[in-house]
Amino acid sequence: MKETKFGKKFWESKWKNGETGWDIGEVSPPLKLYIDQLKNYKQHILIPGCGQCYEAAYLHQKGFTNVHTLDLSTIALEKFKEANPNFPKENVHNEDFFDHKGEYDLILEQTFFCALEPAQRKDYVHKMYSLLKPGGKLVGLLFDDPLSKDRPPFGGSKTEYLNYFSHKLKVDLMETAHNSILPRRGRELFFICTKPVD
Ligand code: SAH
Repeated sequence: MKETKFGKKFWESKWKNGETGWDIGEVSPPLKLYIDQLKNYKQHILIPGCGQCYEAAYLHQKGFTNVHTLDLSTIALEKFKEANPNFPKENVHNEDFFDHKGEYDLILEQTFFCALEPAQRKDYVHKMYSLLKPGGKLVGLLFDDPLSKDRPPFGGSKTEYLNYFSHKLKVDLMETAHNSILPRRGRELFFICTKPVD
């Protein structure tokens, strides 16, 4: 695991103290709409920095059989397991995203990118690239807002994100989401990136 100011201790204390302002208690509407049009129920899906992972619960409930959740925080994952007793335990990964090994058709981004230090953004894109199968997709939401400079959530802009993401991935779409929850309306970008086949 790489040394970072915002490691396991930082996140565990957030979860322990209930300082989880990012947690919207449900699948965010843009991701729900995306999930609802997926047809391959066997595809391998990862949700890193998943917290209570409403997306994974929703996918599992819909019949997706290869959904994986990952978070540094043991507390977050315990909460997830408690709320979803039938979700396969072996698909719940309590580890650092940068240490994870696997091959996925789809990776979902929801308030994880902004949890990482901006200095890790290049590594994030490289790691996503290495976890995706050729033709696999990274899909999700990014804040289109400068947010905080010294602690998570770290924000940014479309120009900045395009710069990072297009380095390794094909950016198919990155636009202001039209169906964000009210407090995030106009402040988040929905994006779809594909790992090129060759
Ligand atoms: N996606 C969830 C949680 C977002 S908060 C939601 O939207 O509700 C960010 C989460 O990322 C926290 O649960 C934190 O523990 C986790 N996290 C931060 N750095 C991580 C890392 N390097 N590897 C894995 N998880 C990490």
